[in-house]
Amino acid sequence: MCGIVGYTGTTPCCDILIDCLSRLEYRGYDSAGIAVCENGGIVSVKAAGKLKHLKAKIADMEKPKGTCGIGHTRWATHGEPNDTNAHPHGTDRVMLVHNGIIENYKEIKSFLTEKGYSFYSQTDSETVAKLIDYYYDEDPLQAIINAKAHLVGSYSLGILFADRPGFIYALRQDSPLIVGKGTKENFIASDVPAILHHTRSYYILEHDEIAVIAANQVTFLDLEGNVIAKELHEATWDIDAAEKAGYDHFMIKEIHEQPSVIAKTMRPHIINGMPDFSDCGVQADDLRTIQKLHIIGCGSAVHAGLIGEYLIEKLAGLDVEVSIASEFRYRDPIIHPGDFVIAISQSGETADTLEALRLSKKKGAKTLGIINVVGSSIARESDMVCYTQAGPEISVCSTKAYMVQMTTMYLFAFELAYIRGSISAEACRYYVRQMNKIPAQIEQYLSDTSVCQHAATHLKDANSLLYIGRGLDYCLSMEGSLKLKEISYIHSESYAAGELKHGTISLIENGTPVIAIATQSSLIHKTMSNIQEVKSRGAFVIVVTTDRHTIKKDAADFVITIPDNEEILLPLLAAVPMQLLAYYTAIIKGNNVDQPRNLAKSVTVE
Ligand code: GLU
Repeated sequence: MCGIVGYTGTTPCCDILIDCLSRLEYRGYDSAGIAVCENGGIVSVKAAGKLKHLKAKIADMEKPKGTCGIGHTRWATHGEPNDTNAHPHGTDRVMLVHNGIIENYKEIKSFLTEKGYSFYSQTDSETVAKLIDYYYDEDPLQAIINAKAHLVGSYSLGILFADRPGFIYALRQDSPLIVGKGTKENFIASDVPAILHHTRSYYILEHDEIAVIAANQVTFLDLEGNVIAKELHEATWDIDAAEKAGYDHFMIKEIHEQPSVIAKTMRPHIINGMPDFSDCGVQADDLRTIQKLHIIGCGSAVHAGLIGEYLIEKLAGLDVEVSIASEFRYRDPIIHPGDFVIAISQSGETADTLEALRLSKKKGAKTLGIINVVGSSIARESDMVCYTQAGPEISVCSTKAYMVQMTTMYLFAFELAYIRGSISAEACRYYVRQMNKIPAQIEQYLSDTSVCQHAATHLKDANSLLYIGRGLDYCLSMEGSLKLKEISYIHSESYAAGELKHGTISLIENGTPVIAIATQSSLIHKTMSNIQEVKSRGAFVIVVTTDRHTIKKDAADFVITIPDNEEILLPLLAAVPMQLLAYYTAIIKGNNVDQPRNLAKSVTVE
């Protein structure tokens, strides 16, 4: 949430800042702004709405020419999304961009009001800028350290001082920040894709660290002002991965990338035909002795975790509990020393998941992060880390990242079941062989999306709809429903098919769409009865199934057939029409699928 960038070098930075921001727009598009050191002062330009509004404003004025500046794209938490609340914030002497939330901003505001400061915006961020201004007396570092002592919350900050042109100061507490290292130019950014066009080398700023960045030098300091040595990382993501590459939207491009990223994610964890997570630090002994497994995440990640729960309970007979991280962390969860906790997050910065992980560690659990972004906070704080290989996911609506989280859950469940002796080596090998077929099956399915496009025409006018399923199909229905509501803005619920008659069925009216996922043989007869129940009450039923099941003509209004495979693997295949249905429904409705209203990616606030 919120993207911050900064550049200091020898080139006028206005266009560079805009370019870097354009690659972070998925993190927020409530407003955008830049501030540039110029003629002994700081010039700022900001505009409510998407980056294009800022670009238009700059095109209409004399472009700032300075070579050192900061930029921001906002996902508002405090104060409505308007020009005034847009970042950067500050005074004539100090300007900053902020990602995060200052929880005690009201106290800071009162403190500064007493000292004679006034405030123009409703943001928490303005109070930080003014607090630094208050402490500023020719020593930027000391002002930052003094101000930091007051701050409660999460923040990464990029700060300019008018009398220190050429220098960007950065401070981090929880919200992510990297420092990009170029030749005679350096950068700050919330995420690596922002700077990939300029450099691949970057440092990760850790909590409670300050960076002082000039064109030729970057210095890292702790809060006592001691210099810290840091490892330089090289980004392996390819630049094209962060571009649309001819597709209309990032979402559809990322859906099409799924075959390759699934294969890439599986590769390091299959050794001699068997699942193997030893490269992530997962020891066979750890797996053998787990008494209880917890899986935590938010959004799609928690849905991938639910698939994991069903698989692990079924195959390994192990007690698994899946929790939404924001609930888990505040409900005094029962965790015994030696319990095993899996934290799933694409960005590795999801604030609630990070805190839930920290709580689990405090209670003595062993922790494994399933993370897409290398070097992110959850990756670094987990005892063991398994990286998924989705590459940068730009579309706010997650597709490929969810898919590789699910892929990892499958391989992990197979290994766990094998090591604990509940499936044979032969069965395990068989599952892995079947998993290896999934990428080609998805690729083949994606070669013709017309059925889903057609099905979407039946959803576009709905006010509300239901996704139903049982067992693994139910877990997937939650993800299907989430995708649809995220980008089509149609209200939708996912329901365990057997639960409908306990209340929800009263929502069915003539023509209400019901999407029923029915892939599991042991449950299909039950699901078909539930389909019958909604159909006889007027629902328009779309059934998602495989060839092995015959859906009678009068049992459904529309059938989507996915490729067949071992039954427990079918969520990996049925997920694709779920994504396509959401995508095409949103397209027909004319919505911006990559930047849905009110949403942003990488949720670094609670
Ligand atoms: N709290 C700041 C604001 O509302 C930054 C929000 C964020 O990082 O998402 O402007």
